Amino acid sequence: MIYLDHAATTPVRREVAEAMAMCMTETGHFANPGSDHAPGRQAAHIVEQARERFAALIGAKAEDIVFTSGATESNNMALLGGAAFYSNKGKRIALAKTEHKSVLDPCRQLASRGWSLDWLETDEQGLITTQALTAAITDETCLASCMLVNNETGVVHNIPALARVCGEAQVLLHVDAAQALGKLPIEARRWDVAMMSFSAHKLGGPKGVGALYLRRKPPVKVQPLVFGGGQERGLRSGTLPVHQIVGLVRAAELAEAEREQMFRHLGRLRRRLLDQLVAGLPQVEVNGAQTAQSPHILNLSFHGVDGEALRADLIDLAVSSGSACTSDHAESSYVLRALGRSDSLADASLRFSFGPTTTAEQVDQAAQRVIASVRRLRALSPLWRE
Ligand code: PMP
Repeated sequence: MIYLDHAATTPVRREVAEAMAMCMTETGHFANPGSDHAPGRQAAHIVEQARERFAALIGAKAEDIVFTSGATESNNMALLGGAAFYSNKGKRIALAKTEHKSVLDPCRQLASRGWSLDWLETDEQGLITTQALTAAITDETCLASCMLVNNETGVVHNIPALARVCGEAQVLLHVDAAQALGKLPIEARRWDVAMMSFSAHKLGGPKGVGALYLRRKPPVKVQPLVFGGGQERGLRSGTLPVHQIVGLVRAAELAEAEREQMFRHLGRLRRRLLDQLVAGLPQVEVNGAQTAQSPHILNLSFHGVDGEALRADLIDLAVSSGSACTSDHAESSYVLRALGRSDSLADASLRFSFGPTTTAEQVDQAAQRVIASVRRLRALSPLWRE
C-alpha cells in the first residue's frame, strides 16, 4: 500500500509518541492540571509551557491560545462562539463555498437561526481576492472566514491582505489554518487576524487535539460551546489532556524546525508526480493555483474516466477523492465544483498529498499505477476520444 493521503492525516512521529507516552504514565505528568497538589501543579506547568511554545510557533502570545479537540472544534468555537458575541453589529458572515465542512456547517447552523451568509467569489483557481472580499462585506458583516490552505486543492490565500480588508471594515477575520501549520510561516498577531484554527494530526501529531488562536489584544470574545469546570479561562471546559497538548506542540515544533527543508522536499515530490502523470496521460487537469500553492497537495482531474471505477481500480493506493472528511457522502467534491469543474470531472479527481515520510520511489510507483488505471479505463470507455 502506498500512502499518499497526508492531508487527511499523518502518522504520529516517534518523538511525539514518546513525549506523549511519558505524560500518560509518569507521576507529575499524568496528574490533573487542575489539581491543587504538587503533581497537579507540575502537569499544569507542562501545559503552560506547551502553550507558550505553541504561541511562539504561530507568532502569538500564550494568552491567545485555547486548546481544543481539533480544528473542527476550533472552527465551531470561532464561528458559533464569535457570532453569539458580535451579533450587535449585524448578523452577516462572509465566507467562500470552498471552506472545510467544519466551517460551512456551523455557518449553516447560524443561517438557520436568522444569520445571512454572503458567499465570497473565488477565481478559477479557487482563490479569494481582496476585491471579492470587499464586495461581499456590508455594514452588517461581523465575521469573515477564510482558510489559509485549502485541504482539497492546496491553494494558499493571502491572509495578510484579506486581514487588512477586514480590519478597515471592522470585520473579525477567522482563518482555518489546519492544513498550513508546518508548511507555511504563520504570524497570527502580525497578520492581525482575530481567530485561527489548528489541528495536530495533519503534522505528525495525534488526532483529537488542536488549538484556537483567539486574539487578546485588542480582545476578541467568543461565547463558550462547552460548559463545566471552567478550564481554559472558562472558554473550553474539560480536564486538559496533557499528553495530547504535548503531542500537538512537540509535532508542531518538529514540523516548524524542518519547514523550509520540507517545503522543498514536498515540492520536488509534487513536481515529480505531476510531470510523470502529464507526460503519461493526455487530458489531465490540475486543480489548484500555479503560484499560490502548498506543495503537500496535488489535485488532478482525469477526463474520460468514471471516478468510482478509478478509485476501485486503485485499491493499493491510499489517496483521496475530494475530501476525506466528506467521504461519507457519495457526491462529487463541492470544492472542485465551486471552481467550475463539471460533476463528472470533479468526480474523476484524485487528491495526492505528501509528507515527510513520502519517498520518490512511492511517487514513481503511484504514477505508474494511476497511468495504467486511467489508460485501461479510457480504453474501455465508449465516450473517450483523445
Ligand atoms: N479544516 C481543514 C482545512 C481540514 O483539512 C481539517 C481536517 N480534514 C479540519 C478543518 C478538521 O480538523 P480536525 O480533524 O482536527 O477536526
